[in-house]
Amino acid sequence: MTIAQRNSLQAIPAYKQGATPGEHEKAFKLSSNENPFAPLPAVTTALVAELGRINEYPNAAAPELVAMLAERFKVAPENIALGAGSVEVAGQLIHATTNPGAEVMFAWRSFEAYPILTHVAGATPVMVPLDAQGGHDLPAMAAAITERTSLIFICNPNNPTGTVVDSAAVDAFMAKVPAHVLVVIDEAYVHFNIHGDSAIGLDFFHRYPNVAVLHTFSKAYGLAGLRIGYAIAPAAVAENLRKTAIPFGVSALAQRAAVLSLNHEAELQVRIDKLITERAGLVKALRDAGIQLWDSHANFIWLATKERTEAIDAALRAAGVWGRAFPGEGIRISIGSPEANKLVADSLISVLQEFPAHV
Ligand SMILES: *Cc1c(COP(=O)(O)O)cnc(C)c1O
Repeated sequence: MTIAQRNSLQAIPAYKQGATPGEHEKAFKLSSNENPFAPLPAVTTALVAELGRINEYPNAAAPELVAMLAERFKVAPENIALGAGSVEVAGQLIHATTNPGAEVMFAWRSFEAYPILTHVAGATPVMVPLDAQGGHDLPAMAAAITERTSLIFICNPNNPTGTVVDSAAVDAFMAKVPAHVLVVIDEAYVHFNIHGDSAIGLDFFHRYPNVAVLHTFSKAYGLAGLRIGYAIAPAAVAENLRKTAIPFGVSALAQRAAVLSLNHEAELQVRIDKLITERAGLVKALRDAGIQLWDSHANFIWLATKERTEAIDAALRAAGVWGRAFPGEGIRISIGSPEANKLVADSLISVLQEFPAHV
């Protein structure tokens, strides 16, 4: 007799982590959009001191970090809700806003956690295809709103296509979103986004009562392994996010590292600028070789390799480049160290010569 379990879980794929090369392989893991820089020395030093207290629970209210974030973004502390990574906060947002049968809408392809989190919460995902340029089709999303819609994710820049939504387009979209529907702008890659017309989540949070923003310390600030992210949300929503959180999910180590990161933002910005420069160099090298790709506004590039994805991915791996392949769609490759990016350019150019038509 099998154990009775929730039926909807059968339809959910387990979250697939970016592949890691074997330890002795000369290869670069560019599959999870991690930061190639080692943690700041100030962070590692402070964490060593903090280790002596891991017998204690963290302060769940994280007052120091919350106060710093509130000050940094000119919002009230009541607007901030922390979680063990922004993916956890995205899940909390779904739990906090959906009743049984509710619909959660997002573009597709986008962050692969969205459909999983939606199913786990017992809500129904509504996935609206990206437009032909890999961007959010906001008019189609507005048209897909029903009386069951409770939450809409806008991933800006979009993972994995790297596209941004235009501020004016989001304003036009917001005009069609009922006031009781929460729009969540997921800005995991906001630090890498220097597009002049892009929607800025915080700006929309200030201008609309039904907008929340997701930020993370994982990507630009290089703390992926510590698990810490947060929402800036209307106070009533943020309060319910705290109710749906797993108690003590955000460790004292993570809180400490986040506080130090905010204290060292200028130093981190230098690293971000380097990654943005590396991204531009990589895109240029590929385009100069005749490879077509969209501008990326995040810390990765996207190659729409379509039906050749698996073959190209295998050839790239053989060359030491471990990206993230989405069969039938494309390959996402994170911006890494200069050495890694050089290998990406060289191997992509040589691999794609073997495939008759360029991407
Ligand atoms: C990486 C990522 C996140 C979350 O990362 P955490 O490590 O959980 O903070 C959230 N949204 C998108 C779109 C991402 O790509």
